[in-house]
Amino acid sequence: MKKFENSIVLITGGSGGIGAATARAFINEGAKVAIADILENEGEELASELGENARFFRLDVSIAAQWEATVAKVENTLGTISILVNNAGIAINKPILELTEEEYRKVIDINQVGVFLGMKQVLPSMLNATNGAIINISSLAGFRGTSRGSVAYSASKFALRGMTKAVALEMASKGIRVNTVHPGLIKTPLTMKDGRDEIINHLSTGIPMQRAGEASEVAKLVLFLAGDDASFSTGSEFILDGGQLAKL
Ligand code: NAD
Repeated sequence: MKKFENSIVLITGGSGGIGAATARAFINEGAKVAIADILENEGEELASELGENARFFRLDVSIAAQWEATVAKVENTLGTISILVNNAGIAINKPILELTEEEYRKVIDINQVGVFLGMKQVLPSMLNATNGAIINISSLAGFRGTSRGSVAYSASKFALRGMTKAVALEMASKGIRVNTVHPGLIKTPLTMKDGRDEIINHLSTGIPMQRAGEASEVAKLVLFLAGDDASFSTGSEFILDGGQLAKL
């Protein structure tokens, strides 16, 4: 039997990058996967490529009513959600003096409020089943600022650590584990848009392992945290960054 054969997984931001790699990895381990994203064409294409155990659902994570409708649809079509991967995220990298209030709020709404809404929406079923795992995708920017102008992004990613610990403690005796994952530089559309692979190459030279990570490497850590292999881990932070945080 495959590791996640009885699991129903909802992955936000699942249409591309780390979310898509995670969807693929769960499907390979027998799970049923709901890919939830605002990118419809990419999400539908991925779902049909992954086969009958994958479905696409349009969801803007910053809107509570859409969460409510999506979770109801997923549970009607696939079954009770046992694993939630809060992965959807955006970055607006600008110095504080250039970043508008509207832009700041947009990043917080998607990266932080979206995770709050997601946890709130799936927890009732998980509590009912006394079983569940939530993985919130933060970042190295959840531990430090960056020189690229990350006031909003870092604020949102720091927040996920606190939210995760608070909810993990509430759920610790109820069979539900909640953890954060902190990727360093990973090759995805987020970091490679506008021909930015040169930036990746340049940035990678500051990484002790001298390369960017692959989305599939993040997926492996997410699957570890979602499954029984991580049965004693909750409220914790899991870093994969090629050694970056080890440096002063
Ligand atoms: P990506 O841009 O490839 O994927 C993000 C996905 O989120 C996209 O499919 C996008 O459509 C979706 N999304 C954006 N706004 C949304 C919304 N309002 N509702 C639903 N979906 C929405 O980026 P990625 O690199 O795969 O990033 C995934 C997560 O990993 C993000 O939270 C990001 O902050 C985090 N992360 C990425 C890196 C990296 O180097 N790539 C590093 C650290 C953390």
